[in-house]
Amino acid sequence: MTLHIPFDNSYVRLPAALYSRVDPTPVKAPALLAWNAALADELGIAGTPDPAAFAGNALPRGAEPLAQAYAGHQFGGFSPSLGDGRALLLGEVVDRAGTRRDIQLKGSGLTPYSRAGDGRAWLGPVLREYVVSEAMHALGIPTTRALAAVSTGETIQRETRLPGAILTRVATSHLRVGHFEYFAARGDTESLQALFDYAVERHDPAASDPLAFLNGVIRRQSSLVAQWLGIGFIHGVMNTDNTSISGETIDYGPCAFMDGYHPQTVFSSIDQYGRYAFDNQSKVLPWNMAKLASALLPLMPDPDAAIAPFTDAVHAMPDLIEADRLRAFAAKIGIARPRAEDHALIEELLSLMQAGGSDFTNTFRALLTDDARDQIADRAAFLDWTARWHDRLADEPGAPDLMARSNPAVIPRNHLVEEMIQSAVAGDLDPFERLMSTLATPYQAPADTSFTKPPTQDQVVTATFCG
Ligand code: AMP
Ligand code: MG
Ligand code: MG
Repeated sequence: MTLHIPFDNSYVRLPAALYSRVDPTPVKAPALLAWNAALADELGIAGTPDPAAFAGNALPRGAEPLAQAYAGHQFGGFSPSLGDGRALLLGEVVDRAGTRRDIQLKGSGLTPYSRAGDGRAWLGPVLREYVVSEAMHALGIPTTRALAAVSTGETIQRETRLPGAILTRVATSHLRVGHFEYFAARGDTESLQALFDYAVERHDPAASDPLAFLNGVIRRQSSLVAQWLGIGFIHGVMNTDNTSISGETIDYGPCAFMDGYHPQTVFSSIDQYGRYAFDNQSKVLPWNMAKLASALLPLMPDPDAAIAPFTDAVHAMPDLIEADRLRAFAAKIGIARPRAEDHALIEELLSLMQAGGSDFTNTFRALLTDDARDQIADRAAFLDWTARWHDRLADEPGAPDLMARSNPAVIPRNHLVEEMIQSAVAGDLDPFERLMSTLATPYQAPADTSFTKPPTQDQVVTATFCG
């Protein structure tokens, strides 16, 4: 049965300044690497997954491909013109739950925003995003989804020649903070207003004005970053062009999960100064939201008068994020209703973990069965901590269940992701399939314990790269 995607496109109806219409560039020999049948069903997509459609060689009926214009602060510096340099929005569908979802190709060729890039992606980052985004979804964390991955039959030039691939991903939208910055920086208030009206309708219909909208983004993003912290996730490139309006994790690049706990962990090869280190993520987010606030100001009837309340909204963020973070970590130790003093209990555990380089995931998971003593170097201090923790749990009857659903047994460990990529490059997709099936139920201990072991000395991956 031929592929049918029930497109219902809206972005392409917006003013032309917001995007450029451009077709994908066909590739030599598209072949399907992965297909997410469950997600396809959720989206109302029927028929056989045609690799030509997801490679851009044969546009599915109803697709109206476009590259979105956006700007962004990258590592603190403003780039007024970024945009989809290697991605194309094919269009949108309204899913079975009534939510509008974007369907986007990533790696589909040159666009007017490609600058010096080739518009392409290689197999490694495509499968990395596929695995990690689907793992995030299974973990219960807001994220873009992976619908399909195809190989192109072409090679592309990075440090060496590498096999090309294209990812099809799905988002409740690909709108970023950078979309607003793009029009604010140009002083194009008319386009900014059109973008704003669209974003409100799509993400927060109850938001009555730009301040209410800003507060909605702040709430969603604060909750998201607190959830990242709770599972040891480091996004790696929290630039404003990679910060979504929806509150979904977006643009998986040199991201990674921590093995041994250290708050200043950095993997991204381009994050030289640790701006986006694990713990800094909660500090960078208010900075990013300040940029959104500035971009929204011109939409207020009296922008000068709005500066104070907009500033207050951003200044409220550290407390908001800390409350979300406290809730996330309290849940990990079985506390459903955290009190102020629980903060110290959590920080003490994290200090013990940091001092001995404890594995983040396994230590929290071991608390479920009270086996964590083997994970912590300073046993005496840990016993002392455990006694106080047990006292505290006397008031938390739901602790075992809460901990079981807050502490995953399995995460996409870096060394497993890297090994999976190497196998895929060599033509073996078995490790990809195995990783996908294990990560589908992350709160269940897998039969194969190789998925839960921290890397050995020679398996350790210290740096991750953009694609
Ligand atoms: P990223 O760091 O992946 O979030 O990308 C930052 C900007 O660079 C975005 O505008 C991307 O579209 C663009 N970009 C990244 N890689 C490429 C590429 N290979 N070709 C064209 N544009 C790219
Ligand atoms: Mg245009
Ligand atoms: Mg990006």
